[in-house]
Amino acid sequence: MSKTSPLETPMMRQYLEVKAQQPDAVLLMRMGDFYEAFLTDAEELARVCGVALTSRNKDDPQPVAMAGIPHHQLPNYLAKLIAAGRRVAVMDQLEEPAVAAKEGRAIRRGLTRVVTAGTLVEEDQLAPGAANHLVACTGLDPEMQPVGVASLDVSTGRFTVEEASSPAQLALILARLAPAELVVPEAWRNAPGLPDLISPVPPIATLPPYAWKGGDARRFLGERLKVASLDGFDIAPEHDHLAAAAAAALRYAESSVGPDAQGRPVLPHLRGLTRLRAAQGLVLDATCRRNLDLVRNSRDGTRAGTLIGAVDRTRTAPGARLLAEWLTRPLADLPGIRDRHDAVGALVADDSLRQDLREALGAVYDLERLLGRIATGRANARDLVHLATSLEAAGTIGDLLTGRVLPHLLATAQTCLGQIPGLAADIRRVLVEDPPLAIGEGGLVRDGVDPEVDELRGIKRDAGTWLANYQAQEAARLGIKTLKVGYNSIFGYYIELSKVVAGQAPPDYHRKQTLVNAERFITPPLKEYEDKALGAEDRIRARELALFHALRAEAEAATAPLQRLADALADVDVLAGLAEVARLGAWCRPEVDDGLSLAFTGLRHPVVEASLGRGRFVANDTHLDAGGVESPGSGVRGPGSRETSAVGSSELPPSLGGHGTPDPGPRTPDAKIAPRLAIITAPNMAGKSTYIRQVAVAVILAQAGAFVPATSARLGLVDRVFTRVGAGDELARNLSTFMVEMAETAAILHHATRRSLVILDEVGRGTSTFDGVSLAWAITEHLHDRIGCRCLFATHYHELTDLAHDRPGIGNLTVAVAEKDDEVVFLHRIEPGAAAKSYGIHVARIAGVPAAVITRAKEVLVTLERLNTDLTAQESAQRPAESLPPTRPAGSAPVQLTIFGGVSSPTLDRLKTLDLDGISPRQAWELLGEMQRGARSET
Ligand code: ATP
Repeated sequence: MSKTSPLETPMMRQYLEVKAQQPDAVLLMRMGDFYEAFLTDAEELARVCGVALTSRNKDDPQPVAMAGIPHHQLPNYLAKLIAAGRRVAVMDQLEEPAVAAKEGRAIRRGLTRVVTAGTLVEEDQLAPGAANHLVACTGLDPEMQPVGVASLDVSTGRFTVEEASSPAQLALILARLAPAELVVPEAWRNAPGLPDLISPVPPIATLPPYAWKGGDARRFLGERLKVASLDGFDIAPEHDHLAAAAAAALRYAESSVGPDAQGRPVLPHLRGLTRLRAAQGLVLDATCRRNLDLVRNSRDGTRAGTLIGAVDRTRTAPGARLLAEWLTRPLADLPGIRDRHDAVGALVADDSLRQDLREALGAVYDLERLLGRIATGRANARDLVHLATSLEAAGTIGDLLTGRVLPHLLATAQTCLGQIPGLAADIRRVLVEDPPLAIGEGGLVRDGVDPEVDELRGIKRDAGTWLANYQAQEAARLGIKTLKVGYNSIFGYYIELSKVVAGQAPPDYHRKQTLVNAERFITPPLKEYEDKALGAEDRIRARELALFHALRAEAEAATAPLQRLADALADVDVLAGLAEVARLGAWCRPEVDDGLSLAFTGLRHPVVEASLGRGRFVANDTHLDAGGVESPGSGVRGPGSRETSAVGSSELPPSLGGHGTPDPGPRTPDAKIAPRLAIITAPNMAGKSTYIRQVAVAVILAQAGAFVPATSARLGLVDRVFTRVGAGDELARNLSTFMVEMAETAAILHHATRRSLVILDEVGRGTSTFDGVSLAWAITEHLHDRIGCRCLFATHYHELTDLAHDRPGIGNLTVAVAEKDDEVVFLHRIEPGAAAKSYGIHVARIAGVPAAVITRAKEVLVTLERLNTDLTAQESAQRPAESLPPTRPAGSAPVQLTIFGGVSSPTLDRLKTLDLDGISPRQAWELLGEMQRGARSET
């Protein structure tokens, strides 16, 4: 008789059938108290989660690998698997084991959920302060056609779609969204260009070709969003790629979350679909976000040392997420920015209102995600109690804002904060104050709410009295004082008689269980009681669950107004938080206009200031003006003049709040004209990087709607901030440091407009000095002459300061240094001019380089400086008057000569004075030998 293969048991068939539908997921199947995985999934589970790998049938020649986890620990293991980039499919038992056992067959099991990084809704698996974006992208080759990119946060229902028409734009969008998971058409799964678009690459999922078809996508979206046409979402008939991306994101999310008990798709909390347009905000690419450490630091990806870490005073998780959105996607339209500044300003001005609002916000839970759990059927009773608490706090906040003259944003928020009638009160009336997490175990509903629950509870409560009476009655009837009535979960209620008296049991006592020293019996009255009492327990649970479901349905029905309320609370939270940080740090309201200048006084870097401690940061001024000085050759324009000839887009479209032509902004007639490009030369550690970064950070803060850490701030709208600072960790992309430096610089030169802000730190350092200076020189010329944007360039190439001689649009800045004896003190004060010395050796000494090396370096430096001075003097005598890069950048080729020439050597002296005509070949040979010996003894 042939033996059944271990893979052909009913249970394994169930497993393999689902596995065939979910080949990319680790499949866990519920078996009793465990979730088990088999075959390669068992190996994967064991590897990722460190659980034991066993086999199902050890004695079989082909044992089936198996690994399991206790069912109550599923959330922990899911978190581990997701963090390791896996998808997890979960199969559950779809019926009571007893039912299957009675019929002598395997328990019915089925797929209940696919858990993926991009579709999580569980609070404990999500970072509170960050959105969780599932991003669907119609393709990765925007060279061929525009690409649709949709983003869906299943935990909050936020749903957006936008278009990328070039790889660079796609990379920008992906960097902003930071997808938790990316859904692409099957053909793109292993696209080699992916790491260039997004790094690190998130987990990738694919959908088959039909899921991306425009017509189907429109129908599907229309059905889900309950609209006949997508025009209302700004998706015109020719925008199939947008519809396809949005439909793919939604299909994928639905397939992961699974249908509800009635088989309906469960994402009712979707907030429509918002179309985002590229020109809507201040553009910040991945490099800029990373270099400025906006929301995640470049070291370990946390918030430590980031801009958001320094400015986040929000009290709620949705507030923190909204702030991150404001900082990573600041505005570029004047009305929008001014609205935010007005609201922050009003809250800065009113300390008591701000404090009261912030206190009330402290009681608000993560409403957005709570609503997501309600909509996806995963909310428990505690969630509903939290909803009630949040609604009551929202009522308080609404009251605080009522009856005041409010700026636009606060007034709008106030109108959304009215309580959803009755919901909080209903929750309070029905649910106990602190219900258990499990919803099926009872204990959710208060006494006095529901007559049926009360009655059943009465039966349960009276159990103690009835049992005591019955025990006393039977003890008296039998004359056995030791007679006891008891209960255990397997045998139910019983009467226990010790072995000695068990023989006296009357005929209506039916033996139930025999113990070593006692016999247990059941009687008809006890049996009747048992049915009633145990039945009561089940009925209480069922009734409580029904009451809970009714409440949850009431909340779900109010999803739309609740979402508006949640949005309003997040707005108030961010605005009050920004006001708090501004008030405590004495930040100022920036004036933003459509000019091209930028003027900060007393500006600080909020992150460096926080790390140094209050009062230790030296504030500095910055004044740049891309509208004030014309290109070389055409003279300097007078104050207040308009400049329209420079290359690059200086026009601000009226849709963004501009007048259509650039306005350099108000300027007093005798104001000193600021350069558009400043070159900062200063010693190491002086504070160059901090200075140029703080300007970029201030622009981002101002356009995000925040106040800025300065005594005064005025800026003309910036369309994009570019940064080229330091070398990020690009080893994973197999790029050399210099290659990265040049690639980033190329992106700036291609994309910067006259309205952009560019900060450059040490461009050209990654190559030879000749090449480096030449490149830095040409790049600076291009930025100034051709692009004409506002730019700060920190460099150690002092040669670049010459560029300011004949270009009024370029200014030189340095950082003040005080020298006393051998000590150097960096004052961190920015002042006009170029650096006199570099103090690199001083910094090396502070950094702990050995004294012998420092002493030798000083000797070499003296020699180098002496020779350099001689050569520079010779050169400047020969150099033409116009500004060209020095033909020989300092410190390059002459370095070799200088070191050689600077060392005194008797052998060299002898060589120099040798009369070659006066010696024979033989003597020359001997001399050569002598000199070689001499030279060897000198080294
Ligand atoms: P390098 O040329 O070596 O890169 P740098 O000139 O760019 O140096 P930064 O990295 O900006 O110097 O600053 C060095 C340190 O000086 C900072 O870590 C900070 O502690 C301090 N510093 C910078 N700016 C200021 C300031 N304005 N006030 C007080 N301390 C400052």
